[in-house]
Amino acid sequence: MAKTYHDQDADLSLIQAKKVAIIGYGSQGHAHALNLKDSGVEVKVGLRAGSKGAAKAQAAGLEVLSVADAAQWADTIMVLVPDQTAAAVYKEIEPGLSLKSADGSGKTLMFAHGFNIRFRTITPPADVDVSLVAPKSPGHRVREVFTEGGGVPGLVAVEQDATGNALANALSYAKGIGCTRAGVLQTTFTEETETDLFGEQAVLCGGTAALVKAGFEVLTEAGYQPELAYFEVLHELKLIVDLMYRGGLEYMRHSISDTAEWGDYVAGPRIVTPAVKDAMKGLLKDIQDGSFAKRFIEDQNSGRKEFTKFREQDREHPIEKVGAELRAAMPFLDPVKVENGNVVK
Ligand code: NAD
Ligand code: MG
Ligand code: MG
Ligand code: MG
Ligand code: MG
Ligand code: MG
Repeated sequence: MAKTYHDQDADLSLIQAKKVAIIGYGSQGHAHALNLKDSGVEVKVGLRAGSKGAAKAQAAGLEVLSVADAAQWADTIMVLVPDQTAAAVYKEIEPGLSLKSADGSGKTLMFAHGFNIRFRTITPPADVDVSLVAPKSPGHRVREVFTEGGGVPGLVAVEQDATGNALANALSYAKGIGCTRAGVLQTTFTEETETDLFGEQAVLCGGTAALVKAGFEVLTEAGYQPELAYFEVLHELKLIVDLMYRGGLEYMRHSISDTAEWGDYVAGPRIVTPAVKDAMKGLLKDIQDGSFAKRFIEDQNSGRKEFTKFREQDREHPIEKVGAELRAAMPFLDPVKVENGNVVK
């Protein structure tokens, strides 16, 4: 069984005694900074000049510094910039990291995903603690659930324990952002990184998006109306996943018709064949041997050519056009659009 920590296993006073810099003020950054502030922790935000996040952070009552100044000021530095830019941002953090805290101990470098430590794009000095608190949730929910009095589950890991207190301090941080209210599972940087990448590639994002597109294509190519196809393969997916989320596969099957349940048993294995499972093993191998990370980082560092091409290709998929029209007629779904990287209603 995974070792799990709850509120009673974490001492909030440890992180309350630290100066905490949150580097980045995006999805995770704003949630960590505001939850810690509400938990009585001294927080400042580190951003590059001209960052869109600076005005938002200041409006929320947070002081904004340059990345280098925040890293110099803080005892605990949480890196919440995109994974592909963390190595460059780390160069600005590194000088501050080599200073000691007021009590003479080494500083703590933290992450919400193990990518850059696991694939060695960042190599911190040996005398700092390196730990991870990874909420298993999109950042905006980390904030919303906390303000409602709850918390999202998280993972905790320690890569370097120079002070001997790295785990206790990381758990204290996790309590400050609300994760110990739900439960924090102990893991390693390697396990967190590899399972996170596999989950999003094979099932959550890659597998699901490909399944939805293929289902839509088969129906519309056979002459069925795109609006019906959209409802069958995309809209209803949420309703089915909500059932699984509350009561597992059994509750989902309890709720659907016997016809749908029989179809589930006989058709599922014809779609996810042993060859598909072998393909998933191929993804896992590419993650473990670093070839996934290498291709991603190389493309990011050379102008994001493949990334941009993929993004534009899928934007043109017919399911996106019909979906936008149908959602616009259902305002109670709170539909949104992405325009030039910004979310608009
Ligand atoms: P994001 O893209 O939402 O935000 C990134 C922030 O970093 C922005 O404020 C941006 O202005 C800032 N930034 C970008 N480049 C910078 C630079 N060169 N210098 C300084 N600041 C810079 O990022 P995110 O999705 O919150 O991801 C942050 C980390 O959290 C990643 O490690 C990610 O894997 C992890 N994570 C994210 C989620 C999620 O819900 N998005 C969930 C779990 C873990
Ligand atoms: Mg994940
Ligand atoms: Mg991920
Ligand atoms: Mg149906
Ligand atoms: Mg049933
Ligand atoms: Mg994104």
